[in-house]
Amino acid sequence: MAIPDSIRALMRPELAELEPYDGSLASCDVMLAANENNFGLPMSLADELSRALAEVELNRYPDPLSNGLRDLLAAELGLSRDNICVGNGGDELIYNLLLAFGGAGRKVVDLPPSFAVYGLYARMLGCEVVEVPRAAEDFEADVDAVVVAASSADVVLLTSPNNPSGNLLAREDVARICEATRGVVLVDEAYIDFAPAGSSCIDLIERFERLVVLRTFSKAYALAGARCGYVISSPGVIDAFAAVRQPYSVNRLTQAAAELVVRHREDFAPFIDMTISERARMADALADIEGVRVFPGWGNFLLVRVGPATEVRARLLGEHSILVRDVSGAPGCAGCLRISVGKPTENDMLVAALRQILEEER
Ligand SMILES: *Cc1c(COP(=O)(O)O)cnc(C)c1O
Repeated sequence: MAIPDSIRALMRPELAELEPYDGSLASCDVMLAANENNFGLPMSLADELSRALAEVELNRYPDPLSNGLRDLLAAELGLSRDNICVGNGGDELIYNLLLAFGGAGRKVVDLPPSFAVYGLYARMLGCEVVEVPRAAEDFEADVDAVVVAASSADVVLLTSPNNPSGNLLAREDVARICEATRGVVLVDEAYIDFAPAGSSCIDLIERFERLVVLRTFSKAYALAGARCGYVISSPGVIDAFAAVRQPYSVNRLTQAAAELVVRHREDFAPFIDMTISERARMADALADIEGVRVFPGWGNFLLVRVGPATEVRARLLGEHSILVRDVSGAPGCAGCLRISVGKPTENDMLVAALRQILEEER
């Protein structure tokens, strides 16, 4: 897929570099490329989900603001529905954040390597992207440099745990950054469930009106295919999100599925605990392979330096039907793969396959 020049000439000039997104989610036996929940919904929820979805009236438009879901989330967080905006996946909310608070000629601070969507959407919307690179050695954020950049920024994009490196941002550092800017600060907590308790920045929204925390049902909560995420912030910021969003972007099936998940959050605890222990087991096993460097991280994935990453990814897929993410093109990530933590058997297969490939490559 490529946009022909004749068509590209008709598009807005700031879109000159864009090509159609095709996540190359090749179908294969072991999917460790997108940080999904490889178990799916807990068995205990399957019947209830079928019943809930069967009752959905698809001839009617959905509730634009997903108020049923907002109320459940608010009760869970000890907040009010005015503190929450629901979106068609976290990605839509990132787009809406930049649509509302970024735009042409405005400054967006990004800390690469980070979630690729940030830079993509920011540039699509004509924002000036100010990059504050993470440390080459361990991908820690350069907080002093972020504070300086934040002082003249309209939007600051932070990720904790970070994708693809897995680093957490300290809450004190997030507070410092909030104090340093007159713009809006996003803390993307897509992977917060896999981090130690007390790592979240949600409670800081009481202190900082312009702080936005992002959560998603796609990673820990097994609904990547349903597309649902939410932001938590002050009512004023939430109203700005509500003003720019496409009114019916969160469909009725998705709202019903997400409501069910919120009502049964505790059913996911065994999966989350297992993923955290598998992450440690996998990190040890991978670090044992000669030539592999594992970066410690707090998501449901590991960043791993293997050397010839593109070739290793292709061989994992072609010879072992295992899909991982080649992130070697991301800033500071030369030679690196991002590998999701899957089921124990899948993780074992990945470790064995990677060991074999790297022995042969040597
Ligand atoms: C996966 C992810 C999201 C959101 O994903 P959605 O499926 O769009 O909800 C947001 N931020 C980061 C860093 C992610 O990795």
